[in-house]
Amino acid sequence: MNPYHVIIIGGGISGLCCGLRLLHAGYKVSLYEKCPKVGGVTQSLSTPSPYADYDSFASIRIHPHVYRQVFTDIGLNPHDYFSEIELDELYRLFYEDGSSFTFIKNGFSKSSDFESFYKESFTHYHDFINTFYKKYLSAHELILSRSLTDLGDVMNFDTLSHFIKLNPLISAASAIKQRFRNPKLRDFLLFQCYYMGFPPSHLSQLYATIPACSEVLGLTHIKGGMGAYVHALEKAFITLKGQLYCDAPIKRIVTHHHHAYGVLTESGEFKKADIVVSSVDYHFALTKLLGRSILFQKPLLSFQMTCSVFMLRLTLSIHLPKLSTHNLYLIQDTEKVFEAVAHGIMPLKFPMYLYYPSSIDDTFNKGNCTTLNIMVRVPNLSFNATYWTPKTIAHMRFLCLKHLEDLVGIKSITSYIVHESISTPSDLAQKFNYYQGAAFGLAPSYLQNAWLKPQPTCSFIDNLYFTGSSIHPGNGISIVMEGAKIVSHLIQYNLV
Ligand SMILES: Cc1cc2nc3c(=O)[nH]c(=O)nc-3n(C[C@H](O)[C@H](O)[C@H](O)COP(=O)(O)OP(=O)(O)OC[C@H]3O[C@@H](n4cnc5c(N)ncnc54)[C@H](O)[C@@H]3O)c2cc1C
Repeated sequence: MNPYHVIIIGGGISGLCCGLRLLHAGYKVSLYEKCPKVGGVTQSLSTPSPYADYDSFASIRIHPHVYRQVFTDIGLNPHDYFSEIELDELYRLFYEDGSSFTFIKNGFSKSSDFESFYKESFTHYHDFINTFYKKYLSAHELILSRSLTDLGDVMNFDTLSHFIKLNPLISAASAIKQRFRNPKLRDFLLFQCYYMGFPPSHLSQLYATIPACSEVLGLTHIKGGMGAYVHALEKAFITLKGQLYCDAPIKRIVTHHHHAYGVLTESGEFKKADIVVSSVDYHFALTKLLGRSILFQKPLLSFQMTCSVFMLRLTLSIHLPKLSTHNLYLIQDTEKVFEAVAHGIMPLKFPMYLYYPSSIDDTFNKGNCTTLNIMVRVPNLSFNATYWTPKTIAHMRFLCLKHLEDLVGIKSITSYIVHESISTPSDLAQKFNYYQGAAFGLAPSYLQNAWLKPQPTCSFIDNLYFTGSSIHPGNGISIVMEGAKIVSHLIQYNLV
């Protein structure tokens, strides 16, 4: 055991994963979490007995191997902590005109179905998937798995020449539209890029690797959902003798002469540390925990944020056989909605993501009921923070349920609702301290990406580190796990 004490602020996926790696390396780790339980936006949400708890927000497991790697890297067997269910169906798509298509794992045998539905060559689609998966592998090696803190890391001939070959300046929307004419296929691919919370027309084509990774690596579901995965991380953290403090919000990072000495809790206690890691929203960390202005940060960083979400979670006294685990409802103007939302407008018609874990996992079927989450991307609070009145919430709920009824072909779905829970952008802002309630952190636009993005080290405090959605390499569960790995390496090999 080395003598250094690390305090981690925030017990989401990135805080927990960073903590686990540091514990394994012999550090003493204390983690402070504001909420009554850990997990951040991946925590489960309680329901009254006997119904199943909800997965609160995140649910799609892209890059499933990364979830296991956190455990294997620290000498634990992941299967002692959580179990996985392979999904034969990746996505079930429902289009506004009533048509539907299901993407299955290893869908090659179904190429004729694909061609007759989309009128596109399957070979061509397959080439796209392979090309973009290779781009992902290169991007992972060049960017995603490395700290870009030191310009020398990137400003060398080898890295730059490989990076340029990836053509990062072409947008994800152009890359997809150049290859495919069918609007339904385009919308499916574009929607997956939009997982980043920013319109694909303003994102590098490197984000078109998201659909490619899902096709090649498959999607798996963790029995019990994301909440069960958080529980697995928490169990490992405690087994490795990490100190976990929930309901323990941090008020300040205590610094003097470019050095962090510890943290001050909201209850006024000073906790001493040799190293501090902030895994909370980056804007919150700068402005509130450090009391700094957001000016004079990295050049070009404008704090343009991603969109937010409206979540409707339902416990239903009915089974919905039409739904798979991951379902997308795509409307004719799907891409226009991305742009509208980025400009602060909420259209009356919108695409939706529906997560129905009950179709595969009986953990979500308790009390003779099933569990469904509906997620809609909506403007963040920079546009109109007072928009979320009870009336607008009721209206959004009504529209979601109406779309749902059309999609599953069941009238009066409200009569089957046994319990429900709603979250709006204000909840993300209040519960998790998300700046502008932006669900996916800083927008990964061209000017806020790669080495232009905030990096894990702090330029003005030597023993302070950052991790999480707004920090390089960025947002998404598997990606923040990569970020946590980078931070733990920096701490081990750079500082002490
Ligand atoms: C609606 C939504 C849907 C998503 N869907 C997916 C998906 O399907 N698949 C996917 O891969 N990714 C998804 N993501 C992204 C992914 O969930 C996040 O990138 C990732 O979980 C972020 O983890 P984190 O630990 O960085 O942040 P968080 O989960 O935000 O954790 C930060 C923690 O810090 C705590 N905190 C805040 N302030 C303080 C304080 N002052 N003191 C102490 N603690 C504090 C918060 O309470 C929180 O627990 C989704 C995100 C959202 C919001």
